[in-house]
Amino acid sequence: MYYIIMDLEWNNSYVKSTQKFINEIIEIGAVKLNSKLETVDTFSELIKPVISKKLRSRIKNLTHITNDDIKGGKPFSAVMADFENWVGEDAVIMTWGDTDIRTLLSNYKMFLKKSSIGFIKKYVDLQKYCQCFIDMENVQQAGLSYAAQCLEIDIESFPHHRALDDSLLSAECLKKVFDNEKLSVHILNCDSDFYARLAFRPYVIKDKNDPLIDKSMFNCFCDICGGKAETLKNWKFTNQSFRGVFFCEHCNREFRVNLRIKKFYDRLDVKRNYSEIIRTPAEAPVEEDNQ
Ligand SMILES: [Zn+2]
Repeated sequence: MYYIIMDLEWNNSYVKSTQKFINEIIEIGAVKLNSKLETVDTFSELIKPVISKKLRSRIKNLTHITNDDIKGGKPFSAVMADFENWVGEDAVIMTWGDTDIRTLLSNYKMFLKKSSIGFIKKYVDLQKYCQCFIDMENVQQAGLSYAAQCLEIDIESFPHHRALDDSLLSAECLKKVFDNEKLSVHILNCDSDFYARLAFRPYVIKDKNDPLIDKSMFNCFCDICGGKAETLKNWKFTNQSFRGVFFCEHCNREFRVNLRIKKFYDRLDVKRNYSEIIRTPAEAPVEEDNQ
């Protein structure tokens, strides 16, 4: 069995026919490791874009790929045919975060009219896996360089943000934290559920009566004493969260609560933020507003 760590570079391009933007892939890089994590081979290819032949400056600055470089690239279909052959039958595909795999899928749909990626049978989100080994107190998602530094990898020896370099750096991260048993939990079979999950876009719930919401989420308790708080200003949805003002009789304090409920494919993410309201005696108390 092989582990293939893949990385893509893309250019954000406007598609006139659909009036939408697509991340058009311009480069693919990958490294193939055997089960002992030895590098067996690497893959690196530039892809000639068809939607936009001009690279955005962000991607030019980041990758140092030029418009002339991509002009000399091969067509997407040809590169992917070569890549599929190179991957072979018995491989686990890995990417740092699932953005690359989403982008690959959208390019498969657009250019190859395929709704799945044939060569990916098993998949690991390497970012998710490596994060299990990193102290993530202050970060939600570890970027590749950040994670590599946490894992004491000399990132200076991986200088460019080219696809192959990033796949090699991701492979170094995997080597640092490789654990067959722990990794096996992260290996996903690429079935219909896998694609449904990829297609799902997380969203913030805006309606208090959304059937996904348990009404008790709106009960408010004091974050200091834990007692039930009185509603001074009822929940109102603004700026991606529900906001309300409450009063705790026991602590004699007013506080504001921000409640953000986000729907992911198979879970709800509920975040509550409390903030103190400090009033000078001259200020009138907040009026009850039950709408
Ligand atoms: Zn209290």
